[in-house]
Amino acid sequence: MVNNSSSTFSSWDSTFSGPLLIAGPCSAESENQILSTGRKLHSIGVNIFRAGIWKPRTRPNSFEGVGDIGLPWLKSLQDELGMKVAIEVANAKHVQKALNAGIDVLWIGARSSVNPFSIQEIADSLRGVDVPILVKNPINPDVDLWQGAIERILSSGIKKIAAVHRGFSSYNTTKYRNLPMWEISIEMRRRMPDLPMICDPSHIGGRRALIHEISQKAMDLNYDGLMVESHTNPDYAWTDSSQQITPDMLQDILKKLVHKVVEVDNPEIQNELTLLRNQIDHFDNELIGILKERMNIASLIGEYKSENNVTILQPKRWQEILTKSLKEGSDANLSQEFMRKVFSAIHQESINRQTNVNKKQEEIKKGSLIK
Ligand code: PEP
Ligand code: MN
Repeated sequence: MVNNSSSTFSSWDSTFSGPLLIAGPCSAESENQILSTGRKLHSIGVNIFRAGIWKPRTRPNSFEGVGDIGLPWLKSLQDELGMKVAIEVANAKHVQKALNAGIDVLWIGARSSVNPFSIQEIADSLRGVDVPILVKNPINPDVDLWQGAIERILSSGIKKIAAVHRGFSSYNTTKYRNLPMWEISIEMRRRMPDLPMICDPSHIGGRRALIHEISQKAMDLNYDGLMVESHTNPDYAWTDSSQQITPDMLQDILKKLVHKVVEVDNPEIQNELTLLRNQIDHFDNELIGILKERMNIASLIGEYKSENNVTILQPKRWQEILTKSLKEGSDANLSQEFMRKVFSAIHQESINRQTNVNKKQEEIKKGSLIK
């Protein structure tokens, strides 16, 4: 992976120069496992070692982490390699224990960031402390909830915060364990542009075979780092065995990753991009003009329907529009999903227009009756 010298993490720690690399097993299992995995990961350039010692399991009666005994194992790793270590915290007690044990970075898991009470408890326990906090997205695709969790931690005075995108639960079986829904993390970055964004391809993918592709996508979207689950013997891992990769596999993926830049210095590439972007701007303006015209017609239809007592929603007509657009879209190489989203939004806006027209007409009628 090519390092990006303008890393947002260099302000966290001057030794971090490129995309931040966090890796380690899903769960700490033994001191030996921590040390052997840590040594390997350290040697391939991983910046921060991760391991869960308190595990938030979906169902009870499964392995819930080794608990407090794992803390000195991580200390051994810090002492031997000078490597930074991170663990998950889910309540004030965890925070206290982690801080007392000298853990360098704490992360808040997806099952905690979904709950403002838990987050507030963690935030309160962090007052006056200077430790980097990673906030994973909540399990449901709710940008406000994710932003709210980050704001609660920020208001406790913590300065070093990063968001971790680990995907979103879904009922349907898909290629992913947790749907990436990249648009949610893109929206988070629009709202909080200075917040570093880290991708967790392990929990998104749920399968070893997907880690490379998801990590590359994160690089393409200019993420600031990766958090990857790595185990020396993944098939025998006590938790999340199917998504963990060996340090060797991780090294291989890192070598293959192409790190892209946001701004290009080369004037030739810059010119070419500017020409293409000018065309995009031109078409965006055209689109806005066309949408304006279309909505004006929708208002006229609204008036006509209102005068003639015709319902605003005409299911048959809507079905016709959708079928026709999907067909024409497909001929034009536009995906069904995209066309469905665009036309549903246009249709909804038309309905809103017509509803407003209808309301106005009703008010006029009432007004003239009163007179
Ligand atoms: C983990 O990182 O091991 C973990 C439990 O993650 P998440 O909160 O994303 O499920
Ligand atoms: Mn895990």
